[in-house]
Amino acid sequence: AAKARTAGAQVYDPATDSSSATNLSLLSELRHALDHQELRLFLQPKIHLASGRAIAAEALVRWQHPQRGLVPPMLFIPFAEQTGFIRRLTLWIFEETARVQPALQRLGVQRISVNLSTRDLLDQELPDKLDALLRRHGALPEAFCLEITESAIMDDPQRAEATLNRLSERGYKLSIDDFGTGYSSLAYLKRLPVDELKIDKSFVMAMEGEAGDAKIVRSTIDLAHNLGLTVVAEGVENAAILEQLRLLHCDEAQGYHMSKPLPVPEFEAWVVKWAA
Ligand code: C2E
Ligand code: CA
Ligand code: CA
Ligand code: CA
Repeated sequence: AAKARTAGAQVYDPATDSSSATNLSLLSELRHALDHQELRLFLQPKIHLASGRAIAAEALVRWQHPQRGLVPPMLFIPFAEQTGFIRRLTLWIFEETARVQPALQRLGVQRISVNLSTRDLLDQELPDKLDALLRRHGALPEAFCLEITESAIMDDPQRAEATLNRLSERGYKLSIDDFGTGYSSLAYLKRLPVDELKIDKSFVMAMEGEAGDAKIVRSTIDLAHNLGLTVVAEGVENAAILEQLRLLHCDEAQGYHMSKPLPVPEFEAWVVKWAA
């Protein structure tokens, strides 16, 4: 098996190993992982910049492999998308999120974001499936935001639009993830029932150095506000950038400076400590 080093830990990199036998075994390993609690829900807080409160969070999947250790999502999400396994994974992460949402609400975390992939957007039954999960856990669509990348929308804009309209009608909030990295036109921003823009971390992280990137961030914040959208900056790694974003009237910030993604119990403890 191919190995790569990330943050000092041994991680398996299926991307460098593309034989079909490996792919078959990776798919069966992913199925096994889902059925044997090797996949974990992690949460990363989003801070409301005007009040300083932790009002939202993003759900991010982790794979704790018994032999290979922690496998980062970038090493299996693309594969899960190719094979269609992502549809099961999305429902799993959504259900784990729905399970903890009422407790998080009591801590002041009003909205949890879940990432959707291209495959999810092409699934006409997704809104019904999400509703059924929420009913089982007594949670409401309004407490959830669905993050979608520009490229996932542009894969099949008409079908994506139909799915997004239906999700929005039922009360789910919708967010455009990694904003600024796609090649699509701005036209869909007006067309689609979007509530939020997330400025990609590549722009946010470069704000300090190159003046050009600060300008991109500033223009994106203004664009979002002119369209009546909430704007979130991701990849906030230090206090100087956080302060710059606050001065630019960015609505929310997410990044290692506040907290890395954490397992649910650690996340809850973090929220309590942050509010104190
Ligand atoms: P994303 O949706 O853009 O998620 C944000 C990524 O940025 C996360 O990486 C997060 O840990 C990382 N991040 C947050 N703050 C900082 C920061 O201050 N600095 C830096 N350098 N990075 C920061 P992660 O968890 O490794 O996820 C990578 C990608 O994998 C995600 O990018 C998303 O596209 C995908 N992904 C993760 N979980 C899921 C999931 O449950 N479903 C789907 N469909 N995709 C997922
Ligand atoms: Ca995201
Ligand atoms: Ca993102
Ligand atoms: Ca991304």
